[in-house]
Amino acid sequence: MIAKKMIKYIEGSSVTRAMFEEGKRLAQEFGQENVYDFSLGNPSVEPPQLVKQAFIQTLEEEEPCYVHGYMNNSGYEEVREKIAQSLNRRFGTGFSQKNILMTVGAAGGLNVILKTLLDPGDQVVAFAPYFGEYNNYVANYDGEMAVVAPNPPSFQPRAEELEAKLTPRTKAVIINNPNNPTGVVYSEETICQLAAVLEKKQKEFGTAIYLISDEPYRELVYDGAQAPYLTKYYKNTIVGYSYSKSLSLPGERIGYLVIPSEAEDFENIVSAANIANRILGFVNAPSLQQLVVAKCLEASTNVEAYDRNRRKLYDALTEYGYHCVKPEGAFYLWVEALEPDDGAFVARAKEYHLLLVPGSSFMCPGYVRIAYCVDPEMIERSLPAFRRLAENYQK
Ligand code: PLP
Repeated sequence: MIAKKMIKYIEGSSVTRAMFEEGKRLAQEFGQENVYDFSLGNPSVEPPQLVKQAFIQTLEEEEPCYVHGYMNNSGYEEVREKIAQSLNRRFGTGFSQKNILMTVGAAGGLNVILKTLLDPGDQVVAFAPYFGEYNNYVANYDGEMAVVAPNPPSFQPRAEELEAKLTPRTKAVIINNPNNPTGVVYSEETICQLAAVLEKKQKEFGTAIYLISDEPYRELVYDGAQAPYLTKYYKNTIVGYSYSKSLSLPGERIGYLVIPSEAEDFENIVSAANIANRILGFVNAPSLQQLVVAKCLEASTNVEAYDRNRRKLYDALTEYGYHCVKPEGAFYLWVEALEPDDGAFVARAKEYHLLLVPGSSFMCPGYVRIAYCVDPEMIERSLPAFRRLAENYQK
């Protein structure tokens, strides 16, 4: 008999699982080239060439005991120092290796920091729509989610709404910029307003409210957009970063947390996060990947390829009558469903072999997410299906 807690996960995951199975079934019946799978955020562009060279060089030139061995649970000091210096160059910050903890991707980092911060019943606030896994990560540590309602059409978080959700039990606020699923980049103005509310409420409650900035898409920005670096705006910020998207390495599971020295209770957070990394069973982030990414800090992915997909899909869908948020970052297009029930709309889209994710999975019904990190030829082939789907509703 499995744990009662896990039963609801099995039931809850059935929507995504069903879509995946349905995709496979459709591909078998109609041929892979006639199925348009926009469901997953798996990077479609190859890792930069430098990554492959770094793997080879690391394996050939470094001592095997060093490459494959245990190290400090927070990661190799020299890797963390290189990352800290790279951040300082890019963002004018003042980090050193003691501020960096290497993690098993962003997911590992979020779990480490939530385990570090949360007592049972502590509250974590997130802005809808948001990456649905946050609910599970917070539940892992018996925290409670408080959800700020979506703010269409800009989907910039509203500071007044945040203020209304904050209580003396609020331990953390999670922000994801650039955003999955909307593709919106939260502006500096938004960040300043959120920081002001957090400062005010910390004073009022006499507590520390940590702003966890989940940033796997930081480098995936278009048309000159830039995501502000949050530690400069709010001292109790903790940044979670990942190389899953920026270097197309999602299966390698590598990222890091930034814990600024100015953060309240810094020493304890660093010590506890180091232990959390160990006792969650990660022990440390993968050793080879740490050494590889340290050699690739100046590498960048092929953002132009995603940008071409973005333009193609946004322009076409807008022309067919869909209402889309023009993405400024990440690789998702956020589109109003053509009927109020986003689940029903996703089911209808499936009849046209279009696999989309319902907004309800991101706590925002009435919308769908289209992941455009796909082969551009699949986008081209899918366009007649998107057009027919829209026409079907216009009839
Ligand atoms: N946070 C967001 C917003 C994501 O979209 C994802 C993955 O898609 C993650 C975290 C997890 O990323 P990682 O592969 O680095 O664990």
